[in-house]
Amino acid sequence: MKRIVVIGAGHVGFYVAERLSKKLRSDIKRGHVELMVIDPNQHMTYQPFLPEAAAGNISPRHGVVPLRQALKHCTILTGGVTEIHHAERRLVVQPLAGPTREVEYDQVVLAPGSVSRPLPIPGLADTAIGIKTMGEAIWLRNHVLQRFDVAAATEDPDLRRKALTFVTVGGGFAGAETLGELEDLTASIVDNYPEIDPDEIKWYLVEYADKILPEVGPQMGAYAARQLTKRGIDIRLGTTLKSCEGGHVVLTDGEEFDSDTIIWTAGVMPNPLLKKSDLPIGPKGHLEVNTRLQVATGVEAATDQTGEVVEGAWGAGDSAQVPDTTDFPLPYCTPSAQHAVRQATRLADNVHAAHVGAALKPYHHKYIGSVAGLGLYKGVANTYGFKAKGMLAWLMHRGYHLSRVPGVGRKGRILADWIVGFFTKREMVQLGEIGLGREPFEAIAAGADPVRAKPTTD
Ligand SMILES: Cc1cc2nc3c(=O)[nH]c(=O)nc-3n(C[C@H](O)[C@H](O)[C@H](O)COP(=O)(O)OP(=O)(O)OC[C@H]3O[C@@H](n4cnc5c(N)ncnc54)[C@H](O)[C@@H]3O)c2cc1C
Repeated sequence: MKRIVVIGAGHVGFYVAERLSKKLRSDIKRGHVELMVIDPNQHMTYQPFLPEAAAGNISPRHGVVPLRQALKHCTILTGGVTEIHHAERRLVVQPLAGPTREVEYDQVVLAPGSVSRPLPIPGLADTAIGIKTMGEAIWLRNHVLQRFDVAAATEDPDLRRKALTFVTVGGGFAGAETLGELEDLTASIVDNYPEIDPDEIKWYLVEYADKILPEVGPQMGAYAARQLTKRGIDIRLGTTLKSCEGGHVVLTDGEEFDSDTIIWTAGVMPNPLLKKSDLPIGPKGHLEVNTRLQVATGVEAATDQTGEVVEGAWGAGDSAQVPDTTDFPLPYCTPSAQHAVRQATRLADNVHAAHVGAALKPYHHKYIGSVAGLGLYKGVANTYGFKAKGMLAWLMHRGYHLSRVPGVGRKGRILADWIVGFFTKREMVQLGEIGLGREPFEAIAAGADPVRAKPTTD
C-alpha cells in the first residue's frame, strides 16, 4: 500500500485531500492507497471568516470545517508534525497527547501555512495577539467586549482610557478587516453602556507602508483608508510600533498611549516546521517549489523551469514560494487564499498524474484582485478590474466567501447567522469565562471562594 501524507489541513491541505480522495477513491477502497491528513486541529479554519467570527457576525463553529466529516476517505491524524526526514520518507508527529510517533510515507504534500511574524519589539510577545486561528478570534471578541465592562465598572480614569484604546498593527487583509469588523462591533454596542461616551473609544491602525490594503490596489486602498478615518479610526501610515511594554504603546512617530488591546498582523512567516526538514528552503524560510508544485531546487523566480526536483515532495500555499509566471509585478505568488485553493487543485491533479504516470501541468493563475469586508454593510473590492465600494463591495465579499467555504451545511449555517443578525440586535455576550475551565469547580471543591470572571489581560 502506498501512503500519501498531507501536512496541514488549511486552504491547501484540505482541498488537496478532498480532491485527491475523490480521484483515488477506488484505490483507497481497495487498500492500495492511504491518504493521511495530519493537523494539530480536528478542523480546517476558513481564515477569511476570522474577522467576522471575532465580530460575532458568524458563530466561530461555522467558520471551521470538521475534517472527519468532510474528508471521509482520508485517515485523519490529529497532531503536529515536528520533524520531516524526507531522505528516509519519514515524519515525526506529536499527537494531541502521549509520546511522539513516526509516520512513513511515499509522497508528502507540505501545506503547514504561515504563522504570525513577531518582531523583536519590547513588550510585543507579552501583550499582543495575532489573528490566524479561530481560538484567537474567540479570545479577541471576548477581550474587546470585556474592555467595555472594565471601563464601565472602574473609577480609575487611566484604566478606563487604556481599556477603551485599541490598536491594530498591519494594514493588510487580516489587519484592516479585523479592525473594520471590531470597530463596527464596538460602535454598535456602546449604546448599551450609558457610562461610556462613544468619543472615549479610540481605534488606531498602524502601518509601516504608505498605504493600506494593497490587495485591492492603490485607489481602493486609499478609499478604504478614507472611510476608516471617517469612522474615527486614527490611521498612522509610515509608522510602526517601537515598544508596548505593559501595554504602554510607543509609536515610531513619537505618539505614546496605553492600550489593553494590541492586534499584531504586521506580516507572516512560513511555518518554522520547514526548518526542521531536510527539504530545500529559500532565503525567507519558504519551501522551494516549481510551477508543477514539486519541491525543487534551482528554480529561478517568475519562470516555468522545473529545476532539480526532489521526488515525492510537493508544496503550495503560504509556506511555499511558487513562481508567478503571469505578468504580476511580484516574482512569487502572494500568500492568499485565492492562490492557495487554486494551487491545491493543481497540486492534487499533479499528485494524481504522477500516481498514474501522466504528465504534470504547471500552475498558472493571474491574481484577480480582491474583496474585503470592513464591518456591516461596508467593504471595498477590486476584482477583474471591477472596482466597488460600500454595500456592493460588502455583498461581493460575503457572496464570494460564502461560495468558497467548503460544504453545503456550512454555507447554510453561515447564511442563517447572517439572516438572524440582519433581523436582530448585535449579539454582545462575551464568554471569557470559558478560559477558567475547571477553576470554579476546583475552588468550590477546595472550600475556597467561588472563582469569578477574570479580566483577559491577567
Ligand atoms: C484574518 C485573515 C483574513 C484573510 N482574508 C483573506 C481574504 O479575504 N482573501 C484571501 O485570498 N486570503 C485571505 N487570507 C489569507 C489566507 O487565509 C491564507 O493565504 C491561506 O489560508 C493560506 O493557505 P495555507 O493552506 O497555505 O495555510 P493555512 O490555511 O494557514 O493552513 C495551514 C494548516 O497547517 C496546519 N499546521 C500548522 N503547523 C502544522 C504542523 N506542524 N503539522 C501539521 N499541520 C500543521 C494548521 O493548523 C493549518 O490547518 C486571510 C488570512 C487571515 C489570517
